[in-house]
Amino acid sequence: MSNGRPYRRRHHYPVADILGPLDGAEIPGGCDTCDAYQTVHPVKAGIWQIVVHHDDWCPTLIAHQARTEP
Ligand SMILES: [Zn+2]
Repeated sequence: MSNGRPYRRRHHYPVADILGPLDGAEIPGGCDTCDAYQTVHPVKAGIWQIVVHHDDWCPTLIAHQARTEP
Protein backbone atom coordinates (compact mmCIF):
# COMPACT_ATOMS: atom_id res chain seq x y z
CA MET A 1 0.00 0.00 0.00
CA SER A 2 1.43 3.31 -1.07
CA ASN A 3 0.22 6.87 -1.02
CA GLY A 4 2.33 7.62 -4.10
CA ARG A 5 4.86 9.77 -2.31
CA PRO A 6 8.45 8.57 -2.08
CA TYR A 7 9.51 7.64 1.39
CA ARG A 8 11.85 10.29 2.66
CA ARG A 9 13.42 10.76 6.00
CA ARG A 10 14.69 14.09 7.19
CA HIS A 11 17.81 14.44 9.23
CA HIS A 12 19.08 17.55 10.88
CA TYR A 13 22.73 17.22 11.69
CA PRO A 14 24.20 19.73 14.08
CA VAL A 15 27.47 20.99 12.65
CA ALA A 16 29.41 19.52 15.55
CA ASP A 17 28.09 16.09 14.65
CA ILE A 18 29.45 16.48 11.15
CA LEU A 19 32.80 18.04 11.98
CA GLY A 20 33.39 16.49 15.38
CA PRO A 21 34.82 13.25 14.05
CA LEU A 22 37.00 15.30 11.71
CA ASP A 23 38.83 17.09 14.51
CA GLY A 24 42.50 16.75 13.61
CA ALA A 25 41.77 14.69 10.50
CA GLU A 26 43.46 15.59 7.23
CA ILE A 27 41.07 16.20 4.36
CA PRO A 28 42.61 16.23 0.88
CA GLY A 29 42.05 19.32 -1.24
CA GLY A 30 41.40 22.97 -0.50
CA CYS A 31 43.71 24.39 -3.15
CA ASP A 32 43.51 24.14 -6.92
CA THR A 33 47.20 24.89 -7.38
CA CYS A 34 48.99 22.48 -5.06
CA ASP A 35 48.47 19.17 -3.31
CA ALA A 36 47.03 20.83 -0.22
CA TYR A 37 45.12 19.27 2.63
CA GLN A 38 42.80 20.74 5.21
CA THR A 39 42.39 20.23 8.92
CA VAL A 40 39.40 21.17 11.03
CA HIS A 41 39.80 22.58 14.51
CA PRO A 42 37.20 23.64 17.05
CA VAL A 43 37.58 27.31 17.96
CA LYS A 44 34.79 27.35 20.49
CA ALA A 45 31.42 25.71 20.88
CA GLY A 46 29.77 25.51 17.49
CA ILE A 47 32.60 27.40 15.77
CA TRP A 48 35.02 25.47 13.61
CA GLN A 49 38.04 26.65 11.72
CA ILE A 50 39.22 24.97 8.55
CA VAL A 51 42.93 25.41 7.92
CA VAL A 52 44.35 24.78 4.45
CA HIS A 53 47.90 23.44 4.44
CA HIS A 54 49.59 24.29 1.13
CA ASP A 55 52.79 22.87 -0.28
CA ASP A 56 55.77 25.19 0.28
CA TRP A 57 56.08 25.99 -3.43
CA CYS A 58 52.40 26.81 -3.91
CA PRO A 59 51.95 30.12 -5.78
CA THR A 60 48.61 30.63 -4.07
CA LEU A 61 50.31 30.33 -0.67
CA ILE A 62 53.13 32.66 -1.71
CA ALA A 63 50.62 35.21 -3.00
CA HIS A 64 48.65 34.89 0.23
CA GLN A 65 51.76 35.44 2.34
CA ALA A 66 52.70 38.45 0.22
CA ARG A 67 49.31 39.97 0.98
CA THR A 68 49.31 39.25 4.71
CA GLU A 69 52.95 39.86 5.64
CA PRO A 70 54.28 43.43 5.92
ZN1 LIG B 1 48.10 25.68 -2.47
